[in-house]
Amino acid sequence: MLFGRGQKNPIKITDKQIVEWKYATCGYCSTGCSMEVGFNKSNEAVSSRGVGGADVNRGKLCLKGIMQHELFTSAGRGNKPLIRQHWHQDFVETNWDTALDATAAGLKKIQQKYGRDSIAIISTGQMLTEEFYTLGKLTRGLIGTNNYDGNTTLCMASAVSGYKRSFGSDGPPGCYEDFEHTDCLIAWGSNLPEQHPIIYWRMKEAQEKRNFPLIVIDPRVTMLAQNADIHLTVTPGTDVVLQNALMHVILNEDLQDKEYIEKNTNGFAALKAEVDKYDPTTAAKICGIDEDTIRVVARLFAKANAAMQIWTMGINQSTHGSDGVVGINNLALITGNIGKPGGTSLSITGQCNAMGTREWSSCSGLPNYRTLENPEDREEIAQFWNIDVDFLPTKRGLFQTDIYRAIETGEIKGLWLIATNPLSSLPNTGRVRKAMEKLEFCVVQDCYEDTESAQYAHVFLPAGTWAEKSGVMTNTERRVNLVKPIIKPIGDSKPDFWIFTEMAKRFNVDNKVDFPVTSEAVFEEMKLLSKGRLCDISGMDYENIEKNRGIQWPYTEKQVQNNEPPPAGGKRIYTEEASFSYADGKAKLIALPFIDNNEVPDEKFPIWLNTGRLVEHWHGRTKTGKVANNNKFSPIPFIEINPDLALQLGAENGDYVRLVSRRSDAIVMAKFTNRVSKDMVFLPFHFHDCANRLTLGLLDPHSRQPAYKQQAVRIETIKDQRAAAQLSMEMRKF
Ligand code: SF4
Repeated sequence: MLFGRGQKNPIKITDKQIVEWKYATCGYCSTGCSMEVGFNKSNEAVSSRGVGGADVNRGKLCLKGIMQHELFTSAGRGNKPLIRQHWHQDFVETNWDTALDATAAGLKKIQQKYGRDSIAIISTGQMLTEEFYTLGKLTRGLIGTNNYDGNTTLCMASAVSGYKRSFGSDGPPGCYEDFEHTDCLIAWGSNLPEQHPIIYWRMKEAQEKRNFPLIVIDPRVTMLAQNADIHLTVTPGTDVVLQNALMHVILNEDLQDKEYIEKNTNGFAALKAEVDKYDPTTAAKICGIDEDTIRVVARLFAKANAAMQIWTMGINQSTHGSDGVVGINNLALITGNIGKPGGTSLSITGQCNAMGTREWSSCSGLPNYRTLENPEDREEIAQFWNIDVDFLPTKRGLFQTDIYRAIETGEIKGLWLIATNPLSSLPNTGRVRKAMEKLEFCVVQDCYEDTESAQYAHVFLPAGTWAEKSGVMTNTERRVNLVKPIIKPIGDSKPDFWIFTEMAKRFNVDNKVDFPVTSEAVFEEMKLLSKGRLCDISGMDYENIEKNRGIQWPYTEKQVQNNEPPPAGGKRIYTEEASFSYADGKAKLIALPFIDNNEVPDEKFPIWLNTGRLVEHWHGRTKTGKVANNNKFSPIPFIEINPDLALQLGAENGDYVRLVSRRSDAIVMAKFTNRVSKDMVFLPFHFHDCANRLTLGLLDPHSRQPAYKQQAVRIETIKDQRAAAQLSMEMRKF
């Protein structure tokens, strides 16, 4: 009992008068927690809780999930379609028919004048899978622009590219249950406790039971690194060198799994020839990890019965992002650690449905990992959708990051943004702003009308959010889970699915292409397209998905016919010999020469700038900035700075300082911590007009994902702290 608690100030838990709990899946990160929202008798959402019987989260939610019901009534939600002639005028409210007609007419006019590809469509990882599929059908089948991508290019493109290069297809091979079987875990640039708290809890619980070594590779002492057995503070952007050196030791000491390599891979000789060049003594000078530690980690990993690697943005958001993923896969393949319990390379994805867009949106190809480059895939989809096969492009169009360059050069004149906010999320936002100003026509579809990007819209389409809609999402471990419309969209806003089907009517002139009118009917259509493929969902339906609190793919119609229940967890892919997606079933070992093209500190800009996320916020704070119980933990932009560096500069803890990069500057508060070294600061990227004013955003050559984590800045102290505070306040008005 706490001292005196019984006599004075008893703890009171407010009775929220909940009369009903309704099922949903969390709409923030890719962990995929099952949850319930509590409603009072006035049908107001007043509480959120985790679902006890769900394998993913087993009753738990993190700080974002537990406050999620507050989104429904948060400030800034769009509740009426808005329209204007020019982006510098005021919006006027309009009705849906007028807004949709204006959108369709605006897009068609640009296409007629400048060609089909002169408009771009950029979506998100936040919508539901049926919405992604429908948007893909509309874009590929009717509108016909090839410049169609998602903001997932900013977070998961390198993982997708790396998986495709190594295994012949996207699709994470492992699952959370692997933590319960592994004998060694390496986390590359992944701060689980803050980015994916519930996956961290699963990992930690497994580790406490079995005490496997945790090796964290991160330049910063993250929360995960604080829990690590070995922490490798790698020099930013040099992971590939470390990977090559680890493989050098493994091959040099004959610790590889020869039988697995022989039966399951191609390319071993070329890989060996390349890693021969990366002896630990030489590599240590580039990647900053001493040679003995490299040897210890290589032996620990290779000698484990089952060894697992996870990674997040520390790998993906780099000019070597795709190579970093291939390097992780190389390490897994040469040690036989794919497709077995505890042995995997598991990309921890970002947004709640980043996987759904990868599987079904047709952004980078065609539904269910089909490609535009494959004539059979094009033919099959054209027949299924009842469109002319020649209407489909024969290779993918521009990535999101290249679309902005094409706006600058005038190749793209019109833009439809869906649930994404590039003016906050793209690197070098000064350049993005200039590009947006050049657009002849811009449509923003979002659940919030007060986003930075909406400033440039000619039409604003208010969309429903999260559990105001119906459909499925896929999480990091390929688990498909259900979101139900537990409350009506606010005001006159509409589910994205409704907006796409209404828009389709305006392009589907001869009614040739069928657009189902319910999300469940769309899911049934997707099942047909999935049969016999890697991502086979033909055994699922909304009922068994909800009953099982999510089902991992593949789960096939045949399994249902054989009365085989869905697995509770622990479903892996590439478990059979030579079962990879390349024609001969073998994975590719790929040699990775390293060329250092990072921006590195120099005399003028002597400090590394590292960016990342906080547990209480989500991406550009469009959502969590409006939820008081999230926002209060970090309401203003700040940097983590080493006290020794601050002392050298003459800054006090809590002072505002000015960060300056070659692109621009930003005002932030200095927060002292030893989590960063003396030559580095860490800046959370959530705040508008802040981190991405500074970032360089060089692009990965394979994935076109920007490098957000390796750039150089200088730090200047500010005399007028009051003026700096005022500016800081203005910078976070969105
Ligand atoms: Fe939601 Fe992710 Fe938190 Fe789970 S861990 S409650 S999915 S934000």
